[in-house]
Amino acid sequence: MTTFKGKGVYGAIALGRISVFKRKEASVKRTHIDDIEAEKLKLQIAKEKASNELLDIYNKALKEVGEANAQIFEIHMMMIEDEDYNESILSIIETQSVNAEYAVAVTGDNFAEMFASMDDTYMQARSADVKDISNRIISCLSQDDGEGDVSDEKVIICADDLAPSETVLLDKDKVLAFVTALGSSNSHTAILARTMNIPAIIGVGEDFLKNVRNGDMAVVDGYTGEIFVNPDRDTLSRLELKKSEDEEKKHLLQELKGKENITLDGTKINIYANIGSADNIGAVLAGDADGIGLFRSEFLYLENTDYPTEEQQFAAYKKVLESMAGKKVIIRTLDIGADKQADYFNLAKEENPALGCRAIRICLTHPEIFKTQLRALYRASAYGNLGIMFPMITSVSELTQILSICEEVRNELKADGVAISDKTELGIMIETPAAAIISDKLAPMVDFFSVGTNDLTQYTLACDRQNASIEQFIDTHHEAILRLIEMSAENAHRHGAWIGICGELAADTTLTETFLRMGIDELSVSPSFVLKVRDAVRHCDLSK
Ligand code: PEP
Ligand code: MG
Repeated sequence: MTTFKGKGVYGAIALGRISVFKRKEASVKRTHIDDIEAEKLKLQIAKEKASNELLDIYNKALKEVGEANAQIFEIHMMMIEDEDYNESILSIIETQSVNAEYAVAVTGDNFAEMFASMDDTYMQARSADVKDISNRIISCLSQDDGEGDVSDEKVIICADDLAPSETVLLDKDKVLAFVTALGSSNSHTAILARTMNIPAIIGVGEDFLKNVRNGDMAVVDGYTGEIFVNPDRDTLSRLELKKSEDEEKKHLLQELKGKENITLDGTKINIYANIGSADNIGAVLAGDADGIGLFRSEFLYLENTDYPTEEQQFAAYKKVLESMAGKKVIIRTLDIGADKQADYFNLAKEENPALGCRAIRICLTHPEIFKTQLRALYRASAYGNLGIMFPMITSVSELTQILSICEEVRNELKADGVAISDKTELGIMIETPAAAIISDKLAPMVDFFSVGTNDLTQYTLACDRQNASIEQFIDTHHEAILRLIEMSAENAHRHGAWIGICGELAADTTLTETFLRMGIDELSVSPSFVLKVRDAVRHCDLSK
């Protein structure tokens, strides 16, 4: 047995045979050509063919994985028309009198290298996209269909890496799981795997493909990120048991759909879901959440190459509110900075970005960005039950400024005759020790608190949440964190506000009873954890 470990991007277990994904690499030769104009025409025809293929893939993706995930193929179509990319190809053909295949291959390599060397992880991931479109154009130039071989049986696809288009073209009914040697969890391929519910592991190491063969038996554990190739009997039976328990658990949890989140002694609580995009609504509804407790609006900004306009934001927020049909939707204002960077913000490099200009600090120092988002939010408020939440609060004066900007925006919209809801709740995240400690002062100013335990843990324990090497010091159950949450809950209730938790700790069912005893009113978790938390709530008895 050989074991490889990478990063699990979708939690499930699969057993089956390996199929090594081979793409027909178009071998590109450099040939001299005499008729440059004919070569350019050939290139133009190939690009049109590539664009048509991408349109087909886009339509397939749209049906299977939703609009946001399909967008990458729209981006590919745009990349094919990118001016710099095309100028480079044409100049190679013209100046070197060489064939179009060669010019596309060289340009693709150069652009891919350029993206890969960028600091921004989002831009790095674009390296695979430019390679993908270049290979597609080369295939069209050489009349090769370019797609890899996939076995007819249901198999575990093993690849060096999978381009987004390759991932979406995999026939879901024939794929048990996929494992890639390379890849980042930020890549669209990983995002697609999660959306397609395919157990997947990425980044198992460059040696991986040298050690697996077509037909090898393997077990993929998407929870731990492990793949066991030719597993021994013990491993096989352990994983078979884990798989059936996992399926049984998932199945049993389905029976909790439609049931109340109520403890044995009758205490009710709201269980909401966390999302990063309007396209996650399907998962929220499937998970039977009572509402959305955290919509991380910054993903709208991260997916774009420029500031999303008021209209773009309004459309996204409206879609979520309408889809949730009157259920609570809490949208958090822009929480960019630290680990979430978008180039166009031109944020200065900082020694300690987690302690730097991030989240509300950016909004308060760039009121025009903040006001655009608030206008979109208030306009969308007319379409459902909106709550607006502000991240990274540390002081009363910040909150005073925020509330006054909100009032200004509301007054402007009303003066323009725009319909807005007057029931929009305003809340803050408790994710700094400062906010928890002065929660008695903050509570009277808002309708709700939502505890961001991910950041609250990082700032309370002085442990960088991005730094895997200090994991042993990150005690998420640390008494200091629990006391800060309890203190915030007491202060919220004393001043008539409600309090939820939207950090990862909300899904830790070993703490559900502790949270309920503190008086937490709402827990907001990933859509797939809603039923698990409901189950934990229904087993609590607070009367004892
Ligand atoms: C948190 O800090 O707990 C939180 C929910 O916000 P994010 O993880 O987006 O920083
Ligand atoms: Mg946070």
